[in-house]
Amino acid sequence: MANKIRKFLKKREIEWVRILWCDNANVIRGKAFHTAFLEEHQEQGIGISIAQQAVPVMYDAVVPGSGLAPVGEVWLRPDWSTLQALPYSPGSARVLGDLVQRGKPWAFCPRGFLRRMVAQAEEMGLHIMAAFENEFYLLQPGVELEPVDQTLFASTFGMDLQAPVIREMAQALIQQGIPVERYYPEGGPGQQEIAIRYSDALQAADRQIVFRETIRGVALNHNMRASFLPKIFEMQSGNGCHLHFSLWQQGQNLMPSLTAPWELSKMGRSFVAGLLHHLPALMALTTPSVNSYRRLQPHAWSGAFRCWGMDNREAAVRIPSNPTLPSPTHIELKTADASANPYLALGGAIAAGLDGIRQNMTLGEPVAVDPGHWSEAERQELGIDRLPRDLGEAIAHLSQNSLLLEALGSELAQAYLAVRKAEWEFFKDWNLADEAKLLLERY
Ligand code: GLU
Ligand code: MG
Repeated sequence: MANKIRKFLKKREIEWVRILWCDNANVIRGKAFHTAFLEEHQEQGIGISIAQQAVPVMYDAVVPGSGLAPVGEVWLRPDWSTLQALPYSPGSARVLGDLVQRGKPWAFCPRGFLRRMVAQAEEMGLHIMAAFENEFYLLQPGVELEPVDQTLFASTFGMDLQAPVIREMAQALIQQGIPVERYYPEGGPGQQEIAIRYSDALQAADRQIVFRETIRGVALNHNMRASFLPKIFEMQSGNGCHLHFSLWQQGQNLMPSLTAPWELSKMGRSFVAGLLHHLPALMALTTPSVNSYRRLQPHAWSGAFRCWGMDNREAAVRIPSNPTLPSPTHIELKTADASANPYLALGGAIAAGLDGIRQNMTLGEPVAVDPGHWSEAERQELGIDRLPRDLGEAIAHLSQNSLLLEALGSELAQAYLAVRKAEWEFFKDWNLADEAKLLLERY
C-alpha cells in the first residue's frame, strides 16, 4: 500500500497531497501535506480543531450551541482509495478524508454519517446507487457578477463559446475516474450543466466533492469564476443539484415493475413516499443555505411543491421515463442544490427513503400539471404543500424530525443545526446582490 502510494505520487510528480472534507457550512476544505513527509501523514493524516465543524459560511468563528469548542483535536484521515492527481493543479493530488478521533470514526463526521446510512440500507438488503446532477454558472473574473455569455438553454452558440473550458472540465473529471455523460448550456446566461454517471452512494457523494472542486479549478485556469450558488441572479434560472436514486439487490435494479402502478415497484414507491414525508425537514440538509430558498420558486423547475409526478419538472420528485422498457429505472429529487454537504444530503435522503420502506408508506396520486398554476385552496384539497419558503422553516422542521435527528446522531445534529441557525440569523434580512457576492465562491 505505502509503496503503491509513493509510486503513484512520484510518477505524477506530486508535491502536495490535499486531504479534503466538507464541513457543516457545506464548504469544501482541505489541508495539504508535502510528499517529503508522506510517511508521517499516511496513516493518521492531519489534525484539525474539533471546532472546525462549528464554523459557519460567513466568518471564521465558532457558532454558539454547537457542542464544540476550540479545545480538542480530530484527525483528517486519508481514504487512499480516493487518491487522484489534480489535472487542473499540477503538482497536487487530492484524497478524501474521514474525521477520526482516537482511531474511531468521529460522531460529527459527515462522511461517516453517509457510511452509516449506506450500511443501514445494506442491512435491509438494499444497495443504493445515486448521482448528483449539477448546474453551475460561469462568470467573468472580478468582483462584479457578470456571466461569461448571454446564451440560452441548449444554445449551440453557447457550446461554441465555452467549448475550451467545458472540454477541459470533462477531461479533468474523466481523468479523475468520473464518467461524463452529457453536457449543455443551461437556461441562465453562462449557466452550464454537465451530467456524470451514477455510482454507489458513498462514491456519488465523493464525486460531488471532486466535481465542485474540478469545475472551479478548471474555470480559474480559464480566467473565469464558476459558482454552484443556488440563486445568483433574481430573474435568471437557479442552480439545482438534483439527486438521483435507484435501489438495487444482487445486481438487479428494483425500481421498475411492469405490473405495478406507474410501473414503479412497491419498494420504489415507498422510498419516494418516505422522501416526500420527510422533505420539509430533509430540506435543511438538501437545500441548506439561506440562498437555497431564493431558487425554490414556482415555475422555476426547482421542486417547490411537495408532490411527485411522472416526468413532471415542477414536482419535488420527478420520475423520469426511459424511451424503452424497463421504465422508470430511477427517481429524482429536485429539491436539492450544491450548497448542500453531499454526505449529509444523500445520507438524509437515504434515511428518509428507507423509513418509507420500513413503514410501508404509500404514495398518493402523481401530479400531471404544474402545481404552481393551482390556487392555494386547490392545492390544499389535493394535499400538495408549498415546501418551506426559507431556511428558518426548514430548520424548524428538522429540529422536530426524530427520524433524521436520530439518523444524524445527537452530536452531529446539534452542531449542524447550530451552524444552520447562525447562518439563518445572520443572512435573513440580506438582499440577493450582497448575499451572492459573499457566497459566490463558497459554493
Ligand atoms: N435550473 C433548474 C433548478 O433550479 C432545473 C432545470 C432543469 O430541469 O434542469 O433546479
Ligand atoms: Mg438542468
